[in-house]
Amino acid sequence: AGSGKFFVGGNWKCNGTKDSISKLVSDLNSAQLESDVDVVVAPPFLYIDQVKNSLTDRIEVSAQNCWTGKGGAFTGEISVEQVKDLGCKWVILGHSERRHVIGENDEFIGKKAAYALSQGVGVIACIGELLEEREAGKTFDVYAIPSWDNVVIAYEPVWAIGTGKVASPEQAQEVHVAVRDWLTKNVSAEVASKTRIIYGGSVNGSNSSDLAKKEDIDGFLVGGASLKGPEFATIVNSVT
Ligand code: PEP
Repeated sequence: AGSGKFFVGGNWKCNGTKDSISKLVSDLNSAQLESDVDVVVAPPFLYIDQVKNSLTDRIEVSAQNCWTGKGGAFTGEISVEQVKDLGCKWVILGHSERRHVIGENDEFIGKKAAYALSQGVGVIACIGELLEEREAGKTFDVYAIPSWDNVVIAYEPVWAIGTGKVASPEQAQEVHVAVRDWLTKNVSAEVASKTRIIYGGSVNGSNSSDLAKKEDIDGFLVGGASLKGPEFATIVNSVT
């Protein structure tokens, strides 16, 4: 972990029912969480209101996606205004499942990021490479971000998401340094030093503390293990 505040996000993806989410919220409410960590959970849209109404204020709530602009005639979409109305401070954008399963591209994701930031909603901006891209030496593309104040970058190698194959702390550290160098060259040294770069991909309660020791790993985006309250708390507390 670097000097910025450690950041741990739980991405619940398309999981849960009213009952299972109520249990998860009660486990999170009773967990002891290190005070010096930003903790965020991203429930499916349909359950955001339930979670906001029952979860401790200690944990912030994120959406998993949003529309590119103001709401209106966009059947099936969810606007940033609606996400804000329910009390979300963050939105996850560019997750690999949205890119590779649903087909979103950088231009589309960049529009969403710009609009969310313009409305004061923070962006957890996911980047990450496919195995063949890593082997070809291409690890990331960062899409256009108009302002970096409210952005956390989540580096998630696609081959590590939901597979149980976690990147080694050294592999993750190496890419985090490369992302920081990219920020220095393409944005500014200030943004590079203050932007948190979090790792995602099969993080669990057993591997998180070794990853957290690496200087450029400023937190985690957690999928599967965030559905278990006590394990998620262990990951949050792994920075110490
Ligand atoms: C994710 O979806 O962001 C993720 C990292 O998933 P998992 O932890 O399950 O690999």
